[in-house]
Amino acid sequence: MYENILRHPGPTPIPKKVQLAMNKDIFSHRSTEFVELYRETTELVKPVFGTKQDILLLPSGGTAALEAAAVNTVSAGEDVVVVTVGAFGDYFVSICEKYGFNVHKLEKEWGQACTADELRAFLQPLQAIKAVFVTFNETSTGILNPVAELAQVVREETDALVIVDGVSCVGGAPAEMDAWGVDILVTGSQKAMMLPPGLSLVSVSDRAWKVIEENKAPSYYLNLLSYRGWAEKGMTPNTPTITLIYGLHEVCKLIEQEGGFHKTVARHELMKNMVRNAMKALNIELLTEDEYASPTITAILAPKGIDLGEFLTHLKQHYHLDFAGGLGHLQGKIFRFGHMGYCFPSDILQAISLMEAALQDFSYDFEPGAGVRAAHEVFLAAQQKQLQR
Ligand SMILES: *Cc1c(COP(=O)(O)O)cnc(C)c1O
Repeated sequence: MYENILRHPGPTPIPKKVQLAMNKDIFSHRSTEFVELYRETTELVKPVFGTKQDILLLPSGGTAALEAAAVNTVSAGEDVVVVTVGAFGDYFVSICEKYGFNVHKLEKEWGQACTADELRAFLQPLQAIKAVFVTFNETSTGILNPVAELAQVVREETDALVIVDGVSCVGGAPAEMDAWGVDILVTGSQKAMMLPPGLSLVSVSDRAWKVIEENKAPSYYLNLLSYRGWAEKGMTPNTPTITLIYGLHEVCKLIEQEGGFHKTVARHELMKNMVRNAMKALNIELLTEDEYASPTITAILAPKGIDLGEFLTHLKQHYHLDFAGGLGHLQGKIFRFGHMGYCFPSDILQAISLMEAALQDFSYDFEPGAGVRAAHEVFLAAQQKQLQR
């Protein structure tokens, strides 16, 4: 009877309206109908990236789009910096290494962000860096790196491109690609964008296009110049995921209906604060400090004295609440509460109240209702503020 309450940091729930939009009849990707859909959708999605540049649509997961960003800009043997603060930063390192780039790895302990000063100190002794790769939102730890500041440092210290993996936050976190001086920003469909997996979005700055034009990218399917050429005609080089583009069009409409993208961002900020305050009230530790805490996913330590694996299984089996476990060395130590995309304050209250029920089942020592109350207080305060405006 019950539906699974999916609170993972991707894939995430899909709005009914988006599902319905994806049920439309299919048409050819060389038809005028497609050109209209493509042009309108890639225009509507620009505020989410904070860019005036074109948004390219790849029929792929986020990883392929990251690979496209790497292979189109850098050649084997060239020097790059990869900032890694967790599992997804490490994947970015692997992509760069596979292509034979000379990788300088700025590694931080999992749960920490990379600060502007750290990046500056790291860059200063290096020379001829072609690109700096940064994970915007580290999905394994719930850290939002300060990309605006990091991009500025790269500009001040080097001629390198700034290439950003925004897969788990673009759509939920503020992104000002142009104003921040980000050269390539990448995201995928199945996280904050509220879509099924299989579509990725890439935006490229003028500076980066110049580099791409000169670079001998050994890539056919992921060749961004080919995407740019076809985009001028309102099309993609090969058959796109037309159904998902219908969905993306509807997602953009939903964001408009929410009152504009800044409202969507504010909702994510509110949900983050609700989750964090609830955990504090329940004496359950958070992996990260507040300062760089992600607006889309919160990493939470195992409640004291509880076997995390058993707790998560119990939550799913008895309460249909589905959280994600930890990755790498954090497996069994943390769980990840995804609050991105099609997720609202009411969903947070629901999840915390179910969590409290499970805590009770495990005889955890706490004051029943304390977590829900703390989250609700954050919610009420935000409503008050809104009414006063
Ligand atoms: C999910 C994720 C990816 C990988 O995306 P796929 O669609 O699974 O290929 C890359 N980077 C980050 C930060 C992610 O959260």
